Amino acid sequence: DPRIAKIASSIRVIPDFPKPGIMFQDITTLLLDTEAFKDTIALFVDRYKDKGISVVAGVEARGFIFGPPIALAIGAKFVPMRKPKKLPGKVISEEYSLEYGTDTIEMHVGAVEPGERAIIIDDLIATGGTLAAAIRLLERVGVKIVECACVIELPELKGKEKLGETSLFVLVKSA
Ligand code: 5GP
Repeated sequence: DPRIAKIASSIRVIPDFPKPGIMFQDITTLLLDTEAFKDTIALFVDRYKDKGISVVAGVEARGFIFGPPIALAIGAKFVPMRKPKKLPGKVISEEYSLEYGTDTIEMHVGAVEPGERAIIIDDLIATGGTLAAAIRLLERVGVKIVECACVIELPELKGKEKLGETSLFVLVKSA
C-alpha cells in the first residue's frame, strides 16, 4: 500500500530523547501532514468497520489522538485509559512493570459492559508492557479484545510476545 511509505516518512526520529540512546519516534510530524494523518485513520477504519466493535480504548497520551477519529468513523465509543489519579470517577487499575519500577493505567468503572468488543489503540508498541496492561484491565471487566493497533512497532523489543493471544496490527515497523 503506497500510503504506508508516506506515513512512515512523515514520522520524525529524534535521537537521545527523552534520554541518551533512545531514538524517539515523534508522531507530531505525522499530524502536520494532512494526507498522512488522514490515511493513517482511514487504514484503521477500513480494518475495523463492520467488525461489531463497540469500544475503542485509547492509551494515554497518544492513543487519545488516534483513537477518537477511529471511534467516530466506526460508530464505537471512545474510552480513555489514563495514567493514575487523572480520572475523576471511580476507577479500575492495572499495574505493569517498567525498566525501573512500575506504572499503572486506569479506566472509569462503568465505561464498558461485559461482552463488549474492543480494539486498543496506541501510537507505538515498544516492550509491550503498556498494551499488555490495557488488555488485562479490559479482560478483567469481561471485554473481548479484538486486536491491539499501533501506528509504529519497534520489533526488536519483541513487545508482540507480551500480548499473548491478542493480535497486533501495526502500520509501520521501525528499527
Ligand atoms: P511499551 O509499554 O510498549 O514499552 O511502551 C509503549 C508506550 O511508550 C506507548 O504509550 C508509547 O506512546 C510510549 N513510547 C515509547 N517509546 C516511544 C517513542 O519512541 N515514540 C513515541 N511516540 N512513544 C513512545
